[in-house]
Amino acid sequence: MVSSSKLALNAYELVEEVKSGSISVEDYIASMLERIESMDERINAYITINHHALDEARMVDKMVRSSSSDGSGYCNGNLLGVPLAVKDNISTEGIRTTCASRMLEDYVPVYDATVVKRLKDAGAIVIGKTNMDEFGMGSTTEFSAFGVTRNPWDEDRVAGGSSGGSAASLASCMASIALGSDTGGSVRCPASFCSIYGLKPTYGLLSRYGLISYANSLECIGLMARSAVDLALMLNAVVGADVQNDHTSIDAPPIDIESINSTSLKGIRFATIREIMESNAIDEPIRDSMLDAITSVEQLDAVVEEVSIPSLKYALASYYTIAMAEASSNLARYDGIRYGYTVQPDGMAWNEFYSTIRSNFGSEVKRRIMLGTYVLSSGYYGRYYMKAQKARAIIREEIMHVLRSYNAIITPTMPVLPPRIGERISDPLRLYTIDICTVIANLAGIPALSIPYSMHDGLPIGIQFMAKHLDEAMLLRIAYLLEHARGSKVKRCVL
Ligand code: GLN
Repeated sequence: MVSSSKLALNAYELVEEVKSGSISVEDYIASMLERIESMDERINAYITINHHALDEARMVDKMVRSSSSDGSGYCNGNLLGVPLAVKDNISTEGIRTTCASRMLEDYVPVYDATVVKRLKDAGAIVIGKTNMDEFGMGSTTEFSAFGVTRNPWDEDRVAGGSSGGSAASLASCMASIALGSDTGGSVRCPASFCSIYGLKPTYGLLSRYGLISYANSLECIGLMARSAVDLALMLNAVVGADVQNDHTSIDAPPIDIESINSTSLKGIRFATIREIMESNAIDEPIRDSMLDAITSVEQLDAVVEEVSIPSLKYALASYYTIAMAEASSNLARYDGIRYGYTVQPDGMAWNEFYSTIRSNFGSEVKRRIMLGTYVLSSGYYGRYYMKAQKARAIIREEIMHVLRSYNAIITPTMPVLPPRIGERISDPLRLYTIDICTVIANLAGIPALSIPYSMHDGLPIGIQFMAKHLDEAMLLRIAYLLEHARGSKVKRCVL
C-alpha cells in the first residue's frame, strides 16, 4: 500500500516513480480503490468501478519490470500506471456506460472510445466511470439517475456538472486524471467548482467516437487534471485524426511540452469582455478573483484590454435552442427496440409501448426533448432554430474578430460559487444562466480552459481562458505560469 499523501501526486510525478520502480502500480491502484471504498459513499463520484483495474495494474508492473531488465516492453508510456476516471457517457469496452440514465442502466459497450483507447495505450488504467447529469444535460450533477455528486470542498454543495463525478474524483484523490465531455461548459464548470483544471479542446481536435451524443455540433471530449503538465501529457496522448470513425476529427501535432514551460507572458495580449465585466450576474467574490487574475497576468508582463462582444446577450438563448434541437434528434434512438431499456411489448399498442419506454428519461431530459422537438417543428423552425443558428454565426464572428487582435480572452469560468445542493434545480432558467461564460467557446468551437485560481470561504473559484482554434499550447502555457505564480494559494485536492 502507498501512503495517502502519494494519492495526491500529479500524474507526471507518479509516472516518474513508476518508471524508477519506487511505486508499484498494483499498490497504487489498490490504495486508490481502498480510498474510493471509504469515501465514495459520501461523495458519489463513481457510478461503476472497473473490477479489472488491479489485474491491469499487475500487467503494467510486469511490463515495467521486463522493460527495465531487457529494454523491451512499453516503459515509454507517458501515463504509465496513471488511474483514469472516465465520465459515464464515454464508451469503455466491457464496462457499463449508463450516461447516468435509467435508459442505459445495463448497457455495456463492446468497444472503447478512441480517446479512452489512446489513453490506455499510453499506460493509463481506467479506474471507474463517473457520475454526471443524465446525458450531460445540466450544470450540477443533480440530474443523475444515480444521485447527486457532492463537492469534496463542501459536501453540502454541488460539484458542478455535467462532468461532476470526474471533477470530484480528482479533487478527492480518487483518480489522477479524468475525462469529461463539454457541450456548453460541462468540463469547465465542475473543474471550477472543484479546484482542478478542465480543458475543452478545439472542436474536432479529439475524436468523438464512442462519446454518446447529446449535441454533436457543440460537444467535445474534455480533459481534467490537477496540473498543467498532466493536461499536456493527456492531450499529447489523444490528439491525432480518427477520420474513419469521426469525420469531424482533425489532425494536429502534439504540444511541445518544453514550450509551455516559459517564464513570462511578454508580448501576449489578453482581452476581457465588457458585457461580462459589467454584468450583475457575476457575484462579488468571483469578480474580485477575476480582477486579481488580471493583475496576475499583467505581472507576468501580459497586456490586458477590454473589448465589447455585443452579440453575447444572445449566447445562452442560441446555445440552449441548438443544444435542445440536437438532443431531441439524438435521443430519438432510445425507443426500446434497438438497445437500452425495454419491456415486453405483449398486448401493448405502439404508442403505449413507446411512452412506457420513454417515461424512463428524467425530468430535465424530457423537458429538453420536448423543447427541442418544438423548435424544430415546421411552424416554428424559422422563428427559433434558424434564428439561433444565425445568432451563433454572429457570435462566432465577433469572437474570431477579437482573437485576431488578442491571444486569449479571460473571463470567470462560473459567475457564482458552487451552489448548495437543491438550491438551483427547481428553476431551470436560473440554472441555465450560470453557463453564460462557458457556452461562448462551444458556439465558436474554440479551446477553453478553466484554471483553479483562488478560494473564497473555502470554496474554489476558477478563471477561464479562451484561445484561437488549435492554440491549446497558449492555454497550457498560461496555466503553467499561473500554477507556479499562485503556488500554495491554490489547493487542487482535499486529502
Ligand atoms: N449546462 C449545459 C447544458 O445543460 C452544458 C452541459 C454540457 O456541457 N454537457 O446543456
